[in-house]
This record gives sequence, structure tokens and C-alpha cells, in this order.
Amino acid sequence: MTERIDGHTLLIGLMAYPIRHSMSPTMHNNAFAKLGLNFAYLAFEITNDTLPAAVQSIRTLDMRGSNISMPNKQKIIPLLDKLDPATEMIGAVNTVVNDHGVLTGYTTDGIGFMKSLDDEGLDIRGHKMTLAGAGGAGTAIAIQAALDGVKEMSIFNRHDEFWDNAKRNVDIINEKTDCKATLHDLADQDDYKAEIQSSFIYADATSVGMNPLQDQTLVTDPTWFNNPDQIVFDTVYAPRTTELMKVAEKVGVKHVFNGLGMMLEQGAAAFKLWTGKEMPVDYIREVLFEDDKEKAKA
Ligand code: NAD
Repeated sequence: MTERIDGHTLLIGLMAYPIRHSMSPTMHNNAFAKLGLNFAYLAFEITNDTLPAAVQSIRTLDMRGSNISMPNKQKIIPLLDKLDPATEMIGAVNTVVNDHGVLTGYTTDGIGFMKSLDDEGLDIRGHKMTLAGAGGAGTAIAIQAALDGVKEMSIFNRHDEFWDNAKRNVDIINEKTDCKATLHDLADQDDYKAEIQSSFIYADATSVGMNPLQDQTLVTDPTWFNNPDQIVFDTVYAPRTTELMKVAEKVGVKHVFNGLGMMLEQGAAAFKLWTGKEMPVDYIREVLFEDDKEKAKA
């Protein structure tokens, strides 16, 4: 690190709270080092109250940009100069790029989802997706997938504080893309099963499966997955094998994924926006998940 930092080093931030647990500094700094790029990435504890001054500091310090996470993903929007069109539809920002004082907001979570499937040689464009969840991740996935050419989308949510957002996502997709989206209630289990069974891909972007709900899954009956060629995608990556994945694997579904690929590719998309270079994703996967390999050997 000390060999790389000099008077020309460009700073990239991560502005969120809490944030000390984040893997992003390790991800990006290792990628900069691997490619010999003169950037440094640091995490800053920033709340809604300190966000305006922090965003101004991107301009003042001529930082190259920043990642943005909770609780600032929506609050940052009026503080920026521009939003890319997909981000405007999504309504949340996770990446800021500073071009000579002009700050543009992007969201790379949906890009990461689509790219992680491309990496596996799977193309969901032109097909039907059933998606559970309409929070931050669900919204980014739904809108990016619709923009990228998914033909039909059934969005399920429970009647909680995200229901209106699910409605909004369906409306915006129908209005602004060629995808035909419909809204469904998770409580209607017959409908849920039928939509999953008629889909090329089922994706879960809810908090179910992740701590503290790591012992739960929205689909408990393995017979719901009656097509071994279907894709089952859980956005959760801790634990690595979620309860949903176990249910799908039990009946031999071939393409079952956790959210690790999406997480890496959302970082890679931000990395490309700042540096113009491809992140060495395979190398970063090894750096970040060395533990996984050790466990696999044991
Ligand atoms: P969020 O709080 O914005 O949204 C939560 C969603 O889960 C909502 O749709 C909500 O209705 C639903 N939900 C919560 N509890 C539920 C329950 N008991 N039953 C049914 N639905 C329930 O959260 P988020 O930031 O969108 O994160 C959602 C998931 O996406 C998490 O599991 C997170 O790990 C994952 N995620 C993954 C990545 C990645 O890169 N792989 C990135 C972001 C989020």
C-alpha cells in the first residue's frame, strides 16, 4: 500500500453508517494493487446528517467518487448533479463518479445481478422471471432486468412497508420498458407456486435466508421446483448455502446461486466506472473468500 500512495493518488470513499464491517475497502484496494492503479479506497462513517458536507468533500478534495450505502442511498439524490437513467428509475444510488466537479449517481446492484448470470453462461433476457422482494436489492434487480430485456416479471411482496414500492416498481417497468410486470401477494401460495413454475428464473431478493432469518425460506416445498433447468437465485451470500438453495438442490435444480457473484460484480461495475478498467474478479473472489476454500478442503 505505501508503495502505491503518492502525491497523485486519487481517493474513493464509502459513505454509510454502520460501515466498518464492509468488504468493499478490501475488494477495491486489492484490485487497485493488482492492476497497479493509483487509487485508494477508504470507508467513512457518514449519516444523513453529515451527508451534505461529505458529498461536498468529494468535489473539494477532487475525489474520484464514492460508494454509498445505508442510510444514504436515497438521501444523496438531491445532492448530486446527474443520475444515470436506470438509477433515476431505481431511485437509489450506490456509486458516485466525480468528473471534474460534476457528480453522477449510479446503482450497480442490478448490473451485478445480470452480470453474475452472464458469468455463468445464463441469459435471462427474453424470458420470464419471478422475483420476491421490492426493497433496495429487489428494486435494482427488477428495473435492471427489465431494462436489459427480461420479457415478463412477476413481483411478489408481503403487505409490509415495501408493498407500495413493489407497486411502484411494477408501474415504472410497465411504463418505461418492454417488460410486462405484474404485482402479486406473497400470501397467495397457489399463485406464488404457479408463477415460479412458469418462470425461467426465480430470484429471492428478500431478507429471508439472511441473519436473523437464516433458518427460513419463502419456498419450503421442493416440488415447487419441477424443472431442473430452472435458475434459482438467492441474493443472500451469508450463509453461502441458504435454506432456499437447499430446497432447490434437493430436487436437482442445476442452476442454483447465492448472492456472492452479484456482490462481486456490483463492485466490479463501480470499479469500471471509476477507473475505466475491468476488476480482476476471479482474483478478488480468492482474496475475499479464502476462508471458503479452507472450509471446502476441510
Ligand atoms: P430491504 O430492507 O431494502 O428489503 C427487504 C425486502 O425483504 C422487502 O421486500 C421486504 O418486504 C422483504 N422481507 C423482509 N422480511 C420478510 C419476510 N419475513 N417475509 C417476506 N419478505 C420479507 O433490504 P435489501 O437491502 O433489499 O436486502 C434484501 C436482500 O438482498 C438481503 O438478503 C441482502 O442480503 C440481499 N442483498 C444482496 C446483495 C448482493 O450483492 N448479493 C446486495 C444487496 C442486498
